[in-house]
Amino acid sequence: MGNCCRKNCSCLSGVLPCVFNNEKRATSYTTNDIVIQNIHINTQHDGPQLPPRFENRREPQINTYVALYSYEGRTPDELSFKAGDKMVILDTTHASWWKAKLSRTRGKTEGYVPFNYVAPVSSIESMPWFFKDTKRTAAERLLLQPGNITGSFLIRESESQKGEYSLSVFDGIAVKHYRLRKLDDGGFYITAKSKFISMNELVEYYGKREEGLCCKLLKPCLKTAIPLPPDLCYNTADHWEIDRNSLKCLKKLGQGQFGEVWEGLWNNTIPVAIKTLKTGSMNPQDFLREAQFMKNLRHPKLIQLYAVCTLEEPVYIITELMKHGSLHTYLQNDNGTSIHIPHQVDMAAQVASGMAYLETQSFIHRDLAARNVLVGENSVYKVADFGLARVFTGDDVYEAKNDTKLPLKWTAPEAVKYNKFTVKSDVWAFGILMFEIVTYGKMPYPGLTGRQALDKLEQGYRIPKPFTCPHDLYEIMLQCWNAKPEERPTFETLQWKLEDYFETEASSYLEANSFVR
Ligand code: AMP
Repeated sequence: MGNCCRKNCSCLSGVLPCVFNNEKRATSYTTNDIVIQNIHINTQHDGPQLPPRFENRREPQINTYVALYSYEGRTPDELSFKAGDKMVILDTTHASWWKAKLSRTRGKTEGYVPFNYVAPVSSIESMPWFFKDTKRTAAERLLLQPGNITGSFLIRESESQKGEYSLSVFDGIAVKHYRLRKLDDGGFYITAKSKFISMNELVEYYGKREEGLCCKLLKPCLKTAIPLPPDLCYNTADHWEIDRNSLKCLKKLGQGQFGEVWEGLWNNTIPVAIKTLKTGSMNPQDFLREAQFMKNLRHPKLIQLYAVCTLEEPVYIITELMKHGSLHTYLQNDNGTSIHIPHQVDMAAQVASGMAYLETQSFIHRDLAARNVLVGENSVYKVADFGLARVFTGDDVYEAKNDTKLPLKWTAPEAVKYNKFTVKSDVWAFGILMFEIVTYGKMPYPGLTGRQALDKLEQGYRIPKPFTCPHDLYEIMLQCWNAKPEERPTFETLQWKLEDYFETEASSYLEANSFVR
């Protein structure tokens, strides 16, 4: 298979249908609403890059927003609010922290709020059943969580196929999926017999009758994961050299190639991971240049860099904390007890999603491996340590090559031989990572040194299919190890192949067919 575009791709990326136009607007305001006055909505963001999740988001037209989650302000500049509170957005000059005004009479009323905690009142995003960038497998995982009931449901928008929506419903035994079809005038339907002007109306209708669905839509799926704010706080969004005294190390999590990693607290309250770098392991100037770029890389499948302490040694890197540590250890600890192929394909798909984002940014990771993927709660996997390989030197995994050290068994032959690191050498490493995933963290090329493995690779040798690995999955690995870099798939292609791995055109979506005669 070559580097084809996504299945059914209409190549309309960037052309987001105007979903909010077709939603019913709230016509009456609660006591929490206030009148909009002198609102400054700036559509020119010349500050940091607009977070990717919101690149296609329409600028607020109705400026009354609702809080999707509760938030405790972390500095005097920020607002504290409860889920459901309404507020007026006064200023969106800053890409990720918006100035807002709450209408309450007590407490602070004006301040900054994280952009990903609010949505326009009555928009689809503000609905409790809307799970924006949720894949089919993730929807199943969420709906099968304890606390959901027969009739729990969610509506999701495909991350890669903007503008496509699906309904996922738990029928008491399994999760069923239905595609929501769109009408030219902006409405929606599941069967042509019943058409609706908005998604709200559709949800209300099927809440009262099954009409071909597996059951009525009774309760929005529980939202267990609260997203992280985009930064440690409003103040560190642009000034991310922080005082090291604001950090407290609580528990050592691991010893990495370049120093120690600690679980810690920032300002005595916010859990963070603190990476302390061995003195002399890098040039602070090189690191700062890299970190500058890394700070602006934002994606749900990339570890968010929050802040740094570079004024003294040892340098600290502060990132989001991932509860279950490295994927390598996680896989080895499980060793096949509870993790099986569907879950393993989902892990690979999540990593491919983060890498596909780096690909769009023309950013090369250089050290993609299970040891550099971290595991969070609710089976969330994120790529870590991107960009660091450029500024560090390491040890055992990183075998010497002239004056640099490389993780030879993960590095594409052209990168070892000619120092040609590209997105395609990352794709090669992704194939090795897939091998690690299916073998529960086995060392690739057992019994060979990296140098010996390289010699064999040049003679056409490739890692044989692991015993438990399905043929189709092994095929994807082999594509990543194509000797010609340009013939390896893109991460975008890898992402959809893995996301659609269990889908077939015929079986993936049910028809609500009680009206089909
Ligand atoms: P590293 O130096 O990145 O190889 O990290 C060493 C170990 O520390 C990893 O294998 C993880 O177990 C742990 N670790 C690193 N970063 C984090 C993080 N952000 N959250 C939780 N654990 C981490």
